[in-house]
Amino acid sequence: MLPVSRAIPKIPNITNSARNFFSKPNTMATTSKTYKLNTGAEIPAVGLGTWQSKPGQVEKAVEAALRAGYTHIDTAYAYGNEKEVGQGIKASGVPREKIWLTTKLDNDWHKHVAEAIDTSLKNLDTPYVDLYLMHWPASLDKQNPKQVYNDWDFVDTWREMQKLVDTGKVKNIGVSNFGVKNLEKLLSAESTKIVPAVNQIELHPGNPSPNLVKFCESKGIHCTGYSPLGSSDSPLYKLDSLAKVAESKGKTVQQVLLQWGVQKGWSVLPKSVTEERIKANFDLDGWSLTDEEIAQIDEVHKENSFKVCGDSWLPVKIFFGAGDSD
Ligand code: NAP
Repeated sequence: MLPVSRAIPKIPNITNSARNFFSKPNTMATTSKTYKLNTGAEIPAVGLGTWQSKPGQVEKAVEAALRAGYTHIDTAYAYGNEKEVGQGIKASGVPREKIWLTTKLDNDWHKHVAEAIDTSLKNLDTPYVDLYLMHWPASLDKQNPKQVYNDWDFVDTWREMQKLVDTGKVKNIGVSNFGVKNLEKLLSAESTKIVPAVNQIELHPGNPSPNLVKFCESKGIHCTGYSPLGSSDSPLYKLDSLAKVAESKGKTVQQVLLQWGVQKGWSVLPKSVTEERIKANFDLDGWSLTDEEIAQIDEVHKENSFKVCGDSWLPVKIFFGAGDSD
């Protein structure tokens, strides 16, 4: 049977059926909740992040997470830890088919998509990934990664990524760090036949990106929120408003941040290499935030707006300000 993604029109109309891709959150069982993608696949709402997890720590973190009940692991070629992630999966004893595994195409591999996925699969020691993302809309020259190619961009890369679905090496394909402007360019390209299943973007109360999230929803693209805790040394932990919500619920600020993200309709990827935190970040069942609490957290960015990942380190602009990625 052809993958469902083949049947999806190039740019779906904004219809109720598109909105129905995003089922209402079941706040009583957050950790077993999934979101249905435009391919029909179901992505678990809570996954373990692995960016900046140091060598020697990632395998244990992945193993601990899977043993604690996580079913979703997020990595990337660029994190340099795919091998250890694969080892952690093996060590956990959890069967591969019970796990949602995401990895990402690195910026200087855009002209080498077929080799890139083979390299990642070899590193991960798995025959397939559940989700393969273009990490950034930035096609960097492999010979000189300080420059972008002048004869190739992310539209060309996506054309090549689409070919992977037929190989069985990737179950779903998507993008990451795409704002509205770049998504519009991608979706209107002649060669784009598959709508990305996911856009993995920075989402936390300091960067809630309502315009971008709404745009993605309107196109049937599920958002996954990265840096859901505000990343390392998170400024969010110092906010009285969040501390008060957490205290009134008898929960930690981190748990409130994760529940907020899932109730907003996106999957979340808390990273930790600390076993107690990995477990605590997955203690999200049997309680939920009220509409008032969610509205209160929605206000945080007005006084405390910040972004963890900008584009100044890249030789190409990615984020274009108001209305694009906010
Ligand atoms: P994050 O998950 O928001 O925060 C991670 C930080 O919070 C770490 O320093 C971690 O420390 C700490 N932490 C975790 N749980 C905690 C708890 N319960 N109490 C106190 N501190 C806690 O940050 P992130 O790593 O930036 O983002 C999450 C994941 O999203 C990444 O790992 C990666 O998988 C993905 N991501 C993707 C992109 C992209 O471009 N697509 C960009 C950024 C991130 P310890 O580890 O020391 O416990």
